[in-house]
Amino acid sequence: MGMNIQEAMASPLVWHPQTAAEAWQLKQTYGTEGIYTSGGTLLRTQWESGISAIPRHLIDLSTIRGLNDLRIGEAGLVVGGQTSLQSCRSNTLLSRHFPMVSEAIRTIAAPSVRHLATIGGNVASSIGDSIAALLGYDAEVIWFDGTTENRTLLSEWLPEASAAKRGNERLLLSMLLPFEISLEETSVKHDDKDLTMQMKRFGAYHKIGRREAFTPSVVTACMNGVLTHNSVIKQIRIALGGGQTVPVRLEKLEKEINGAAVDGHLLRHVYERIIELFEPREDLFASAAYRKSTAANLIVAELWKAAKGETKPL
Ligand SMILES: Cc1cc2nc3c(=O)[nH]c(=O)nc-3n(C[C@H](O)[C@H](O)[C@H](O)COP(=O)(O)OP(=O)(O)OC[C@H]3O[C@@H](n4cnc5c(N)ncnc54)[C@H](O)[C@@H]3O)c2cc1C
Repeated sequence: MGMNIQEAMASPLVWHPQTAAEAWQLKQTYGTEGIYTSGGTLLRTQWESGISAIPRHLIDLSTIRGLNDLRIGEAGLVVGGQTSLQSCRSNTLLSRHFPMVSEAIRTIAAPSVRHLATIGGNVASSIGDSIAALLGYDAEVIWFDGTTENRTLLSEWLPEASAAKRGNERLLLSMLLPFEISLEETSVKHDDKDLTMQMKRFGAYHKIGRREAFTPSVVTACMNGVLTHNSVIKQIRIALGGGQTVPVRLEKLEKEINGAAVDGHLLRHVYERIIELFEPREDLFASAAYRKSTAANLIVAELWKAAKGETKPL
C-alpha cells in the first residue's frame, strides 16, 4: 500500500553527516525542525507517545567517523558517544575500571534496545540511567560548539544541556572517564607506617524501578569513595537521579562529610541532608518524597556496609 499524503509529509528527511562540523551545520540550517539522532530509541518512544512530533529533518549522528568505540586516551578512558550500550556492556576496560557504569548499563532496557541505543543518546537525554554512575566517576563530556571540541565536567554540562534541549542543542561527541588515583597515591604516612594497605575504595550503583528488570527508574543512586582503616571518609562522590530528574552530584554533602568517621551520627546527618538537598521530579509513578527517602536509604545503607567492610572493593 502506498503512503497517503499525511504519512509522506510526516516522514522526516534523514541526513548522514560524516563529521561533527557537518552535523552542526545541518542543525544550524534546520533549527528546531532538525533533530540529532543517535540510536533513535528514546526519540521513538517520544513520537509514539505524542510527547514530541516527528521532525522534518533527522540528523543521524551514527555516520560521524570515530565515535563508536572505547579507547584509552591521555586523560582516561574515552567512550565514543555512538557506542551502543551493548558494546559498552561487553567492554572489559569499562567493566574492569568503571564497574558501576557497566552495572548501570546492564539495567537499561532489554538487549534488543541496547543494540541500537547509544551511551551518547543516554547522556544527551539528560535523564538516562547511566548518568548517575558516570557522575560517580567524575566523568567529563567532549562536545562540539560549531568551531572547537570542548571538555566540560558532566556535572556542569548537564544543567546547560537540559536547558538547551529545545533550542540550539549541544552536540555531544564522547565521554571521558578519568582513571581513579590509585590508593598508593592517596595513602597517609603515619609513624613511618604506610597505611596504604588499610585504605579501601568502595562504591555502589543502584537503580530502583517498579519491578525487578526491564523497568524505567524511580531512583538511580551512585556512591564512590575511599575510607581509611578506621572508617574515616577520605574521598566521596554521591550522585542521584531517576525518572525525569536530571541527575546531580550532592557536592555540598560530600564536602560536609569528607574527613568524618562513619558512625550513627554521621549516617543520620547524611540521611537528613539527602532529604533536604535532593530535588527529584515527581510523576504518576512516585512522589518526590518517596524518591528522596529511597535515595537517602540507599546511600546510608551503602555507607554503613562500606564502613563495616561488607562491600567488595572496586
Ligand atoms: C523499551 C525501552 C526501554 C528503555 N529503558 C530505558 C532504561 O531503563 N533506562 C534508560 O536510561 N533509558 C531507557 N530507554 C530510553 C533509551 O533507549 C536510552 O536512553 C538510550 O540510551 C538512548 O540512546 P539513543 O542513542 O537511542 O538516543 P536517541 O533516541 O537517538 O536520542 C536521545 C535524545 O538525545 C539527543 N541526542 C542523541 N545523541 C545526541 C548527541 N550526540 N548530541 C546531542 N544530542 C543528542 C536526541 O536529539 C534526543 O533528544 C528505553 C527505551 C525503550 C524503547
